[in-house]
Amino acid sequence: MNDIIKELAELEEMMLQCMKCGTCQHDCPLYRTDRKESSVARGKISLIQMVYDGKLEETANILKHVDKCLLCGRCKNVCPSGVKTDEIFLKAREVLRKINKMPGWQKMILKTAMDKPELMAKMAPLMHIGLKFGSKKIKEDIYKPFLPGMGGRSVVGIKSKAFAKEFGGFHKAENERMKVIFYPGCAVNLIFTDWGKAIVEILKYYGVSVFVPETNICCGIPAATMGELELYKKKVNENLDMFESFDGAEHVITCCPTCKYGLSEMGEKQTGRAGRIPVTDILVFLKEVLKIEEKVELEETATIHFPCHYEKDKHGVVEEFVTENIGSDYKKLTNQSCCGFGGTFNIKYYERSSGFADSKADEFQEKQVEKVYTPCPGCSLQLNDAAAKEGLDVVVTHPVISLYNKIKG
Ligand code: SF4
Ligand code: SF4
Repeated sequence: MNDIIKELAELEEMMLQCMKCGTCQHDCPLYRTDRKESSVARGKISLIQMVYDGKLEETANILKHVDKCLLCGRCKNVCPSGVKTDEIFLKAREVLRKINKMPGWQKMILKTAMDKPELMAKMAPLMHIGLKFGSKKIKEDIYKPFLPGMGGRSVVGIKSKAFAKEFGGFHKAENERMKVIFYPGCAVNLIFTDWGKAIVEILKYYGVSVFVPETNICCGIPAATMGELELYKKKVNENLDMFESFDGAEHVITCCPTCKYGLSEMGEKQTGRAGRIPVTDILVFLKEVLKIEEKVELEETATIHFPCHYEKDKHGVVEEFVTENIGSDYKKLTNQSCCGFGGTFNIKYYERSSGFADSKADEFQEKQVEKVYTPCPGCSLQLNDAAAKEGLDVVVTHPVISLYNKIKG
């Protein structure tokens, strides 16, 4: 116990920067809905401080509150004192996990998913069939006794062939002007394989040759959020080694802001290693590096959901892409709160998690949008679920899909 308190106290310097001003309350999606101090960054920091000050005996219960967090980073973004809430919460989860140990079977699944990516890719056909069968059962809610809250979900299926298995290798562009690596991440590798295909084809169309890793190594963020920071660091290092093995690549392109954050900003903080190749979101790459002027001109009413980890100063890039390159009739969402996905948060607290997306779906309906663009696979899963539950005739997708449909004619 003393070791744990000592480890938590290592966070003291970062936590003392919190003036308890409460500015973070306004932007915390959890606090905005339950008004509980234990939901917001200030309250969580106070609880951790009380543990190492020896004022709280039930240390294990504290994990519950630290765990109940979307890790959306909104508190960090608005904090006037620059408190690194994301680093504090990840480290606290790691330390407190030593008391509330993860069940052995969960740890085994996590380690297999992280350490055996080739096995995961080989299992894609089985998972594809299993999920097809399973999602019907989820709708029927037969899992309720074991997995309460799973019922009624609309699950986007796993594809029968992993993206890296199908597209792994070098894709040379005619009139090559640059080489990049495309990092699909787990969701594109196994679920949104069409996003990956569109990105490779678009890049080649603009004269960019693409390396696609033959095995997708997870960015490690799921491990970090479960308190397994060492496993996360291992994945970051493996990915950086892999990126640096591709000769002449100038960017690592991603289409998941959480993977980008995990492999760059947070990855560097945790491992102390900065990648040599910049990690760049696909839309930012198309607009700011390639400066594409393509016009798709779709006659449809569209809106955008901005993912929490998508850099705020790049929101304008996404808007320009949708309004200028795609040419949609754009209706801005009033509710730009978190979609509520939060990775494992969605699995553990589904009812709470889906509540955030449901309120967004209400606005889709009210504004009569036909397409919802979001440059994140996690948000896409969550919003698809909410739209399906409300029976909305709306397509949730990444903006590159509309560009790709035009290019391929
Ligand atoms: S905004 Fe920052 S300083 Fe203020 S209470 Fe929240 S974490 Fe603490
Ligand atoms: S990371 Fe998000 S959910 Fe967690 S405390 Fe901060 S604002 Fe709230």
